[in-house]
Amino acid sequence: MRRYLLKSGLFLGLALSLGSLASCSKDGDGVVLFSVEDDKALGQKVAQQTDSTYRAKGQLLEKSSNARAYTLLNQIVTRVLNSGQLQYRNEFPWDVQIIKDDETQNAFATPGGHIYVFSGLIKFLDNEDQLAGVLGHEIAHADRRHTSRQLQQQYGISLLLSVLLGENPGQLAQIATGLGQLKFSRDFEREADEYSVVYLNGTNYYACDGAAGFFIKAEAQGQSGTPEFLSTHPNPGSRIQDIQTKADQLGCRNRNTSNSTLTELKSLL
Ligand SMILES: [Zn+2]
Repeated sequence: MRRYLLKSGLFLGLALSLGSLASCSKDGDGVVLFSVEDDKALGQKVAQQTDSTYRAKGQLLEKSSNARAYTLLNQIVTRVLNSGQLQYRNEFPWDVQIIKDDETQNAFATPGGHIYVFSGLIKFLDNEDQLAGVLGHEIAHADRRHTSRQLQQQYGISLLLSVLLGENPGQLAQIATGLGQLKFSRDFEREADEYSVVYLNGTNYYACDGAAGFFIKAEAQGQSGTPEFLSTHPNPGSRIQDIQTKADQLGCRNRNTSNSTLTELKSLL
């Protein structure tokens, strides 16, 4: 069944590429050739590969032996996911995993909603609004299907479909390894920032410019300590302004959020 679906997906992709590409765009800012089912299938493959890569290095924080840390992190993630603003809240499996690496201030998302956060990012942040903001940004890359579209552009749809069919394990490993450094277009970055504000507003809990707080802190670190997250996410200055402008429009900047969850989470990492 899976094989049939994927083959028909390839056929559909080819058919669409011969016709009007713009007509199959879901939201007007890019072409989606992959089906949502393909996003989920590719996400599952990439997540399995990512898990085994970091597990082999002893860096994957296992859920079974770190239950409290995951309970805390999931409290934050679930607020964002339940903001009522996601398109694929119920279609994607949505999970989050921690990679134990205090030197790396990064986070990334596979297609289909598998989120990875480095312990170095969690420890770097001052408050829960910032963590929710960064998570919102990554959730947006998956929910707006940026990751899927960027991978299609970078690798081509037929190669990705061969990965889905299990025919190309070497390529799968390369995709998984490169995900944390995947370079998105400026439009995708802007949209992920904007949706981070929209999601946090929908939580009715977090100050919705939390992502800006992260960029301000990261920018203040200067050249010597620039987080890796920023090297793949350029132009922090204008992005801070755009996030705050959007937050002002929605009137959700001033919320007094408790930081007790983040404080306890940090103490466990
Ligand atoms: Zn991004």
